[in-house]
Amino acid sequence: MTCRYTYQIATGGFNAADASEDITAALETAFSLTGPGDVIIGWRAQGDCYRQAADVTHRAGKRLWLWLPVFSELPQELSPIPAISYMGREQQGFEIMPGEDFQFACPTNAHNIEIAYTLYRRHFAHLPFDGVFLDKIRHASFAGGLENGLGCFCESCRDVYARQGVDADEIVQLIRNNPAAFLPADMRKCIYRFENEAVDRFYQAKANIITSAVAALTDRFLEHRLPVALDVFAPLLAYLVGQDLLALSVRAAFIKPMIYCITHAPAGLPFELKWLRDCFAPHDILARMGGDIDTLCSKESVKAQLRELKPDTLRPGFEINIVPDICESSPGYVASFAALLAESGFANAVLSWNLLGASGDNLKALSGCFYSTPT
Ligand SMILES: [Zn+2]
Repeated sequence: MTCRYTYQIATGGFNAADASEDITAALETAFSLTGPGDVIIGWRAQGDCYRQAADVTHRAGKRLWLWLPVFSELPQELSPIPAISYMGREQQGFEIMPGEDFQFACPTNAHNIEIAYTLYRRHFAHLPFDGVFLDKIRHASFAGGLENGLGCFCESCRDVYARQGVDADEIVQLIRNNPAAFLPADMRKCIYRFENEAVDRFYQAKANIITSAVAALTDRFLEHRLPVALDVFAPLLAYLVGQDLLALSVRAAFIKPMIYCITHAPAGLPFELKWLRDCFAPHDILARMGGDIDTLCSKESVKAQLRELKPDTLRPGFEINIVPDICESSPGYVASFAALLAESGFANAVLSWNLLGASGDNLKALSGCFYSTPT
């Protein structure tokens, strides 16, 4: 079994200073070890990095994807309208990784939806990208607290909920008086179902908001003949932030579930699961989802999650970079993850989330165990 890898390169936030990295060397080394592949790169506005990436990628006959955030990490000068918590306050962000704030904008607001497109036109439209890879297409997660995780309760979102049969005030009363109503009862096709009908409709409405926003942006970018791919949470967590993975994959060139089993930062399974557990304590929400932090980050859990998705539209992402205290990826980890994907029948994967932070040993481990370099 061979796997085609897609490479991800993080160049920093929009306003980050040019770091003058040698993107050419990093990609040529990776291509020689683990095979040529598509490249996802973003989203610093400055520098020569995109030209270098385009040269190497296009010479190999692969596609270059512009990595863009949609509802978080947005420049303040574009005035994103913040999401409003169920307590009526602006959703609060927090900083784990430098340059990321995880403050979310309201996903219903048309101005907010347009920002990713505005950023593309302002900074990147002159560059030879083959597609756009959208990140942060979601509501805030429970990371940072229960108040963050319920979604937006601004007037526009309340109207959307009402049109879908959801009384936002009833949801607010439920979270205050009966948080157990928010424990999922079951999962089918990556969608959690809730016994409480109001909560069930509420989560459907939240997912519809994200699906609609992505559809609007997909239309926008297709006007420029740029297909759209999506960065999404792992199936275990996606629906809780409004991502209906099967609905989102219908028009996406591919989706990349972040199967980050060793990342102690947002989108990382151990990080998000810990917050989720603590937000709903003393109720055991993780037991409803099938285990505890260890079992839900295990190989068996990953296999079960991937079974729900279609391999042809999927490029699961796993960590190859090393960030001290946040993500200690190792040759053993990447090799076992690659083997797991092969057993699950996946022919594509994304080496996440930053090739520039990957050790050479991790890439060598992948070249030896999974991808057969043509001789
Ligand atoms: Zn809103």
